[in-house]
Amino acid sequence: MSVAKIRLCVDQPLGPGQSVALTEAQAHYLFGVMREGVGARVLLFNGQDGEWLAEVAEAGKRKGILHCLAQTREQARPPDLWLLFAPVKKARTDMIVEKAVELGVARLLPVLTEFTNAERLRRDKAEAHVREAAEQCGGLILPEVADAAPLSRVLAGWEPARRILWADEARSGPGLAKTLAAAGGGPWAVLIGPEGGFSEVERTRLRALPFVVPVSLGPRILRAETAAIAALAVWQAHLGDWGSA
Ligand code: SAH
Repeated sequence: MSVAKIRLCVDQPLGPGQSVALTEAQAHYLFGVMREGVGARVLLFNGQDGEWLAEVAEAGKRKGILHCLAQTREQARPPDLWLLFAPVKKARTDMIVEKAVELGVARLLPVLTEFTNAERLRRDKAEAHVREAAEQCGGLILPEVADAAPLSRVLAGWEPARRILWADEARSGPGLAKTLAAAGGGPWAVLIGPEGGFSEVERTRLRALPFVVPVSLGPRILRAETAAIAALAVWQAHLGDWGSA
């Protein structure tokens, strides 16, 4: 069996003998850019059916058909970690989305806070970034991107069993590692504010909610994307799928 290095995210079912049609962009990438053709082997995943080795059966300029040969990995279940983040400038928001996928977040929820000053978040664009990041990092999970919603509304409808790790730049809480070691597993979400930070009203509200756990990410003020990456990494190392308890 030839080694398949290219991974493509598809939105069709994968299974024994299953045929999968490529999108125009995928056909262009595979046959135009990567110069592959009939007989080439690629890996396919769709966020549900694991990963499959597939062979190109038909190759055209704008289309292509692949046949699934064998499952290479079973579908993984993601650690139960969500990310609530205030959209920031476009390139930085893209980075948050990309790194959240690499770091194994199961769901992305853009929240609009008082000091959020970003252009609106394009959900379709964010979803395209999710797919690209999953293709690149070997992930099998396609985290859902929720519609952007005001933080106050998200908190009002929050299911209290899921604790929110609130990265508070005022450092009202103890350090992250210590907090996680004491708090233990279960469903979690990380909350990162915008470049302007959280308002006093938001801070008062967050402090009063029993499911919100304030944490400090150290003595320096991090940019939002750094804060997101750092908090997710420490969570994964303590409670997630990085292999330590
Ligand atoms: N303008 C704000 C900083 C905002 S940083 C100020 O000067 O105070 C953007 C977000 O990153 C914050 O809302 C917070 O969620 C997170 N963050 C940055 N540094 C942090 C730290 N040291 N501890 C906890 N959270 C931090």
